[in-house]
Amino acid sequence: MLKVSNLSVSYGPIPALRDISLEIGEGDTLAVVGANGAGKSTLTLAIAGAVRPALGTIEIAGTDITGWLPEKVAFQNIALVPEGRHIFEGLTVEENLLLGMTARKESGSTASAFDEVYSMFPVLRERRTSQATRLSGGEQQQLAIARALLSKPRLLILDEPSLGLAPIMVDTVYTVLKKLKEIGVAMLLVEQNPARIGEIADHVIVLTGGSVALSGRPEILERQALEDAYFGTL
Ligand code: ATP
Repeated sequence: MLKVSNLSVSYGPIPALRDISLEIGEGDTLAVVGANGAGKSTLTLAIAGAVRPALGTIEIAGTDITGWLPEKVAFQNIALVPEGRHIFEGLTVEENLLLGMTARKESGSTASAFDEVYSMFPVLRERRTSQATRLSGGEQQQLAIARALLSKPRLLILDEPSLGLAPIMVDTVYTVLKKLKEIGVAMLLVEQNPARIGEIADHVIVLTGGSVALSGRPEILERQALEDAYFGTL
């Protein structure tokens, strides 16, 4: 459903991605790993339309969306949960969620859409009238994911959803991601923890210096770790 071909992105003179090609099948989860500065966030932003590619194409279900503005990409049912969550300060939990409804094409009541996400994230129901900034980091991450889900994405892009969260919160986030996978939502997941990748990903790519260094089943990460240990490069 997502096909990225020969994608290159630069920030002015600085190349951030070089000649990236990847595909995500209907309902599949692709994990993206790589060191700091490898280009993982840039890849998520490029697919969501927030940065413009210099070269290459991005297609969603056969439609070429290369160079589209983020609002238009969102209407193709692609939702991004960016690194750092980006909840709206000064708004309540429920007001933040309402903003997630703007890219929703499906008709039906707001109340039933909210019920659906509140049943996934009960803590958000409890805190719905609280200022979003008063939530813990883990709760804010749940809010960011819940808001993305309200647009009914076919493809959910998550940039390090477990970064900085307590282990119990990471479990909560991954329980929801697994549920989404079960109901057929495709995901592109930037994640550094091989154990988490093993739980959910169908495929993994390793980015190094803006290029795909390795690609395959999640097990390649174990093999790579062994090789790195053997050759002393870890
Ligand atoms: P991290 O894990 O640290 O978030 P990353 O793998 O997500 O790293 P990117 O944030 O995509 O990497 O950065 C890729 C390259 O592009 C890096 O060299 C980074 O310094 C550069 N870069 C990222 N954003 C910008 C920007 N807005 N302006 C200029 N250069 C940028």
